[in-house]
Amino acid sequence: MSGSYEQSLRDTARKERSILTGTGGGGYEVALVYPNRYHVAMSNLGYLSVYRLLAGRFDVNVERATLPEPKDERALKTAGRPVRTIESQKDLRTCDALLFSISFENDYINVLKILSLSGIPMRASDRTDGHPLMGAGGVAMMINPEALSPFMDFFALGEGEGLADEIVEILIAAKGRGVSREETLEELAKVSGVYVPSHFAVSYDTSGAIDRIENLKGRVNRVPVRRLDDFDAMSFCSPLVTDGTEFSDMLLVEMGRGCPYSCAFCGTKTVYGRVRHRPAEGVVADMKRGEGIAGRVGLVGPAVASHPDFTSILRHIEDLGLGLGLPSIRAESLDDDDLRLLADLGVKTITLAPETGTEHLRKRLGKAIRDEEIMDLAFRAVDAGITQFRLYFLIGIPTETQEDREGIVDLVKKMHHQVRVGSGGKRRVERITASINPLVPKPHTPLMWMAMADPKELMTHIRALTKRLSKIGGVTTIYEPPKWSYLQCLLARGDRRVADILEAALQNDENWKAAMRQTPVNPDFYVLRERDENELFPWDILDYGIDKSSLFSRYKAIIS
Ligand code: SF4
Repeated sequence: MSGSYEQSLRDTARKERSILTGTGGGGYEVALVYPNRYHVAMSNLGYLSVYRLLAGRFDVNVERATLPEPKDERALKTAGRPVRTIESQKDLRTCDALLFSISFENDYINVLKILSLSGIPMRASDRTDGHPLMGAGGVAMMINPEALSPFMDFFALGEGEGLADEIVEILIAAKGRGVSREETLEELAKVSGVYVPSHFAVSYDTSGAIDRIENLKGRVNRVPVRRLDDFDAMSFCSPLVTDGTEFSDMLLVEMGRGCPYSCAFCGTKTVYGRVRHRPAEGVVADMKRGEGIAGRVGLVGPAVASHPDFTSILRHIEDLGLGLGLPSIRAESLDDDDLRLLADLGVKTITLAPETGTEHLRKRLGKAIRDEEIMDLAFRAVDAGITQFRLYFLIGIPTETQEDREGIVDLVKKMHHQVRVGSGGKRRVERITASINPLVPKPHTPLMWMAMADPKELMTHIRALTKRLSKIGGVTTIYEPPKWSYLQCLLARGDRRVADILEAALQNDENWKAAMRQTPVNPDFYVLRERDENELFPWDILDYGIDKSSLFSRYKAIIS
């Protein structure tokens, strides 16, 4: 049984094509853990970038580990056997450090699952010097790590490429000196961007809101989030290519960080700071690294099409004879040349994010795009040969009315109609996938004060919209169930007490309802409550240098 798990890990590793010359091979054993299945992990450029960085060090032996596939997970659980690494099937318990890369709140439960399967105590306070040190980074941790605080020894808050080297150097030196776990954490806590939760005390007032956050070691009460100093000079591409991922046969290349737009529901602006486009030469050099191992390039970034050299980068892809995969693209800024190049490179679907069905609500959220511009883009895309669209919509927006929701149906209808009429009946939109998702008010955004809309009402609206959209030919509707959005909101806005719900969910085989009933923590307090202007948030531990009052002014303007 364990043999088949190990064999499947060996098979997985054998199918990978790599640009790496080694995986370190040094004496310090790191397992870089992605808390989801292999195919999801291998689609995450952030995770793969840190792997590449550590694999380039002579003093570290880094190996990857993921949540086992369902059949292996069941077998390991029954037999009480641990999760192992992909490269050499190493037992996670024998590693010096487990470093988790966490991008999504819904993966938190998988962190606990991996520890539980491996027989490692989940709570940091229950682990001793004989256990691996446990750290976590990734974009979800940069939003709010607090729900995972009781389980982690430390968090790396910031861009991993800037922090990883500093952290492992401290870990290696501490191991060399044979110092205790606590002394190692003392050293780590001195690094800007490292947050050691056990060094902080959080107290609550009678309403349940946070009253005080205090650094017990007398250092700063807020941890500055680290950014990369020399972004331009670095290489950002996936070191491994495999067919066992969402983006098969594709080398992922990062185009830049930050976003020029400022949508009220999105934390990208705060989390990644100012827009940093990578120099085109760096992007092209990375694409060339994949020659011989990948047939396609995947361009990654929040605003790929806004890159000033987007067109010339597309031409390079064409010259290299590669295909193009665009995991997603904010397409509003594409001109006719770009659209033709995209079509020539095999792109069949364009993603657009109108977010709302009406212009006035869109404007309220900070998206200035007009319906007319969406129709114009659809027309030009179809003319260039791209006939499928994915449209992202949000519901549960402050001040949203029935008319705004009806506007979603109207917008989709109008796209079909205008392309057909505009081309004199010669062209048509083949398929529209309307993705309808509840708005999850996230930390570090102007909407962090708002109460999420009631999941039952959201589901009623989604059902009504799905019914109406299904009557339009060539339209498919997909949506995130509001009960998942509720959970995402709970974990994204949770404090340390929410860890009890996570633990109970694991014990109840992910029956979240049972978990919430079993713990005294009230999840609605985190999800369905509008906050006071001056409330201290769990994520205030992270210091982005942002003025909360300006975010609050924007919130007031949005809800007025
Ligand atoms: S939603 Fe997209 S376009 Fe808007 S700020 Fe976020 S990353 Fe930028």
